[in-house]
Amino acid sequence: MKQMVRNSLAELLGIWYTINGKIKKAKQRALAGEFILSIYFHAPSAALFESCVRWLLKNGFQIIPTQQLLAIKAGEIPFPKGAAIITVDDGWRTNINNIVAITKQYKVPVTIFATTEPVEKGGAYWWTYANKAKQLHLIEYSVEQLKKLDNIERLNIVNKIKATLNLQREAMYPEELQAIAESKYITVGSHTVTHPILIQCDDAEAEFEICTSKKILELLLNKPITQFAYPNGDYSSRELELLQLAGYQLAFTTKTHYLTEDVLKQQLELPRFEVWESGGYFETISRITGVWFNSKTKKNHSNGQ
Ligand SMILES: [Zn+2]
Repeated sequence: MKQMVRNSLAELLGIWYTINGKIKKAKQRALAGEFILSIYFHAPSAALFESCVRWLLKNGFQIIPTQQLLAIKAGEIPFPKGAAIITVDDGWRTNINNIVAITKQYKVPVTIFATTEPVEKGGAYWWTYANKAKQLHLIEYSVEQLKKLDNIERLNIVNKIKATLNLQREAMYPEELQAIAESKYITVGSHTVTHPILIQCDDAEAEFEICTSKKILELLLNKPITQFAYPNGDYSSRELELLQLAGYQLAFTTKTHYLTEDVLKQQLELPRFEVWESGGYFETISRITGVWFNSKTKKNHSNGQ
């Protein structure tokens, strides 16, 4: 009920942004080459993902592969007019039908950041265990509270839940990840091994999460992994250093800025606009054009991890 009210109000706001010309203005600025739209998803429905792709293409945008950002940054190609990049976090199994199939249909590139442990071992993502355990009154902590704990403390709680609850696989199987990585429209990047909150990890844990996930994916997919997305968007100077040492070339945060030429200089701190995956059409368009995030009056908090 609360969610329905939230979504209805958000949709009205989205409609208002359309009527008052804010979306049109943002679109014109992007088409003039002021910035690239950087958009990300977790586990959207096929209809939602397709509606975003269709809106971008219909409005004159070109969806470019994330790795092209390197050539743009290096000045090998000019800063594009009307470009968008699409990234997807976690490696959800539903992405195969809801995203990968659509990238082929529309011939658009997408980068998917996979968390390796749920791919290799199955089961659910840790926050699904935590949500379920909370519902069943097995734990007091909410997911948001768990994110604030030291990594080791959070892991102890999550591992106890895993020993009690048997939940279905949420991530792709290794073979499925291999299969999608063969598509010319899909780039796979790393989203750590266990999806921790990196800033709650000690040095050894942070290094393991950043370096080992890269090695696992490189072995599995037999190609270099050079892109990364921070779980929950959290990082510090330590993570930047670790990423650099590991040889990552691009990394994505959850900062909600436009991707301008200037912002692109920090290639391990790239911003992204999150799509609210239960939201309506006008909210979605307000988000992918960044209009949603320029208002300081609302919470920009994400519905994903
Ligand atoms: Zn994530």
